[in-house]
Amino acid sequence: MAYDKENIFAKIIRGEIPCDKVYEDKYTLAFKDINPARPVHILVIPKGAYVSMDDFSAKASPEEQAAFIQAIGKVARDAGVSETGYRIIGNTGEEGHQEVMHLHVHVLGGAPAGPMVKRVEKL
Ligand code: 5GP
Repeated sequence: MAYDKENIFAKIIRGEIPCDKVYEDKYTLAFKDINPARPVHILVIPKGAYVSMDDFSAKASPEEQAAFIQAIGKVARDAGVSETGYRIIGNTGEEGHQEVMHLHVHVLGGAPAGPMVKRVEKL
């Protein structure tokens, strides 16, 4: 899938729409989800134009990939959920239920995450 420069997270990166920023470095931005599902619900995104984890893992530089992983750990520590635990979710593509087509990882904490994922009838 081609990257759409008008997606909502691209607009946040460009500063065209606001966000509640919690972390930023050269390669990565993290901000609070507008519709939180847990007391801590942070979205971590690369600043580069990557549609998904598929895209990012194949094409991003080692520096961008390292910064992304490090940012996920840092925002969780800074939010105070490292000790109690948290869940990271990376929805990818149609069957992954990805809604915004710019790579993002959800960091969810502050309350029990619950079961991992709804099981399908037939495997
Ligand atoms: P997805 O389903 O693609 O993994 O998750 C997209 C997430 O982006 C949702 O949790 C949704 O609440 C969040 N979101 C959508 N639009 C905005 C926005 O304009 N600002 C912020 N901060 N979060 C958004």
